[in-house]
Amino acid sequence: MSTRVSLREGRVLYQSPAGSIVAVPVAGRTLVFARRRVGVSERMPARISLVAFEHALREAFRRVMDRLVAGEGPRVKVSSTRIGIVSWSLPSYVTCPGASTWCEEYCYAMKGLYVNPRVEEARVENLVASLYPGFVEELVRVLYEAAVRAAERTGLPEPIVRLFDSGDVYDPAVLRERLREMGVDVERLEGLLGVRLDELPRDYFARLLYEAVRALNELGVRVYMYTRSWRLPHLREWLERMAELPRTVVWLSVDPAMSREEVAEAEAIAARHERMGVAYTGMLPLNERLRYHLCLKPLGVVNCAQCLVCPYAKAKRVVLPTH
Ligand code: SF4
Repeated sequence: MSTRVSLREGRVLYQSPAGSIVAVPVAGRTLVFARRRVGVSERMPARISLVAFEHALREAFRRVMDRLVAGEGPRVKVSSTRIGIVSWSLPSYVTCPGASTWCEEYCYAMKGLYVNPRVEEARVENLVASLYPGFVEELVRVLYEAAVRAAERTGLPEPIVRLFDSGDVYDPAVLRERLREMGVDVERLEGLLGVRLDELPRDYFARLLYEAVRALNELGVRVYMYTRSWRLPHLREWLERMAELPRTVVWLSVDPAMSREEVAEAEAIAARHERMGVAYTGMLPLNERLRYHLCLKPLGVVNCAQCLVCPYAKAKRVVLPTH
């Protein structure tokens, strides 16, 4: 879905010296954009460069595989602890079986800093680590230690982990197909791992993640994530189980490229769980009279550790403006 709209004709939902958030009706939807005044030029997001992303991904895989050959196993790495919330990521798109055409155009994790092979390398290493024995224990250990330290340093009410700043709950068969599309040497990777990705159960990673999230919750760590993997029934089942864990919040992401029926389906699934909500990416709910929380993070006036709406499911719907 390629969109060229004039923000000047939009309805202003929020305005401050930092910028504004504007709603624009397009083809039966109301799209939502953030216009920052400071630091970022006022322009529509451009179609992302897949070429640069593919290059970064191939290079990152090549480096990680070279290290495996040299006998260096992959290490689980956190992406950020800066604001106190610890984030953990996988490479975007290849691990996102529910990615929509909106993601292909606007995904922030496929542009900017993310297309640097060195930045991408940690995400690739996390992905490769997820295919190694002992992954769950290692993930829990690394995230627990990082989250406890970060919460103590910043004064968060409890340790908090955000899963998938980039990436998502992957399906091994879709992952294999996407890696091949992007020119990654999948056969070499599978030879090093001693496993064929398309022979693993389709919910292989979802099960592991569930185990890790449950263990983290038991250790007193709060976990939340945004995901489009709910679009695949065999992965959705695990997301619904995660939302039933005591300290986990799951946000089902929807966007303007999804049909009205699909958006309604996400709303119906989320309604079944207290700690599951709908994240409207770049759009308002179809029924605009429904109550929602408008995220101001794209304007740089708040961060998630100050806001805490998503980690604690303080709203049932959040609107995340495109920026
Ligand atoms: S609504 Fe709050 S917690 Fe959620 S993404 Fe925005 S700033 Fe972060």
